[in-house]
Amino acid sequence: MKALLLSEYSHLEVAELPQPVAGAGEVLVQVAACGICGSDVHGYDGSSGRRIPPLVMGHEAAGVIAAVGQGVTHFAVGDRVTFDSTVYCGACSYCLSGQINLCDNRQVVGVSCAEFRRAGAFAEFVTVPERIVYKLPADFSFAEAAMLEAVAVAIHGVAVSDLKGGETALVIGAGMIGLLTLQAARAAGCSLVLVADVDATRLKLAAEAGADTTILASGAAMVAEVLRLTGGRGVDLVLEAVGRDETVSAAVDAVRKGGTVTLIGNITPQVTLPLQKVVSRQIRLQGSCASSGEYPEAIELVAAGKIRVSPLITAIAPLSDGASWFARLHAREPNLMKIVIDPRMETEVASR
Ligand SMILES: [Zn+2]
Ligand SMILES: [Zn+2]
Repeated sequence: MKALLLSEYSHLEVAELPQPVAGAGEVLVQVAACGICGSDVHGYDGSSGRRIPPLVMGHEAAGVIAAVGQGVTHFAVGDRVTFDSTVYCGACSYCLSGQINLCDNRQVVGVSCAEFRRAGAFAEFVTVPERIVYKLPADFSFAEAAMLEAVAVAIHGVAVSDLKGGETALVIGAGMIGLLTLQAARAAGCSLVLVADVDATRLKLAAEAGADTTILASGAAMVAEVLRLTGGRGVDLVLEAVGRDETVSAAVDAVRKGGTVTLIGNITPQVTLPLQKVVSRQIRLQGSCASSGEYPEAIELVAAGKIRVSPLITAIAPLSDGASWFARLHAREPNLMKIVIDPRMETEVASR
């Protein structure tokens, strides 16, 4: 099969690799769409240490079941499916309590690090365990399905924030996750959703995605605007989708006393904590990692049009364009949101 192989750091090539075989409890998926994730771009140059070559990356995928391994009962050849990026063991204490994102033996599709190595979906075929697979509704496009992983992450960030309905919220960062988090907060019943970013183009997408007000500012100027819009009180919830010193600090300043700051972004490994503000204003800092069973809800919300993902898809491209799209994303070319690779396009070209 053809695959986009990270043969060495910062070098991708379309390679001919053996087609994987579905083992016991696994399904073989013919990939029809696989999104390029920010974590792939950070892994590609070696900076994250989570994409040790040689590796086929790609964990935001959808396709059609091409074969089933021994003991697979829920899926059959021809089913249209997507799958979770997290491969959980199903047996540890976290899995048994439903917190599959915290699995002690957690692996991620399309990631290789010191602990594990697992081939991903920038390829014509990929194998994944049956338990992470979800069926897609008949009219659900594969490209939209490739966005479900990010949608599930956004829904999870809102879910761990424990909303009761009617809250005011601020999303910091109008990147992919921020734009989806804004829609998830809206769907969860927030009465007011503000979105802040320093990029006007992204804020335009935020406004189109349903932000009540967008704030083109950062730091103290952003906080001042949030306070102005909330009568000096601050918002009930900040969903922080960046993860830098400045944005985390601004999140603490923009939330009301007793409010919650949910930390989703982690672009830097460490930030300075404004400890006295957090303690004296009794702010809850809540981390959010990946997703934990939110796929069915993600499928429902996208199918119902409550979360719209199509405006976030910049391009759908064949495997042979993968290397150049990675280079453009790595160079931080402006106005690129999600690039979806469709390995079937490659097949068509090759068969002509
Ligand atoms: Zn991802
Ligand atoms: Zn587990």
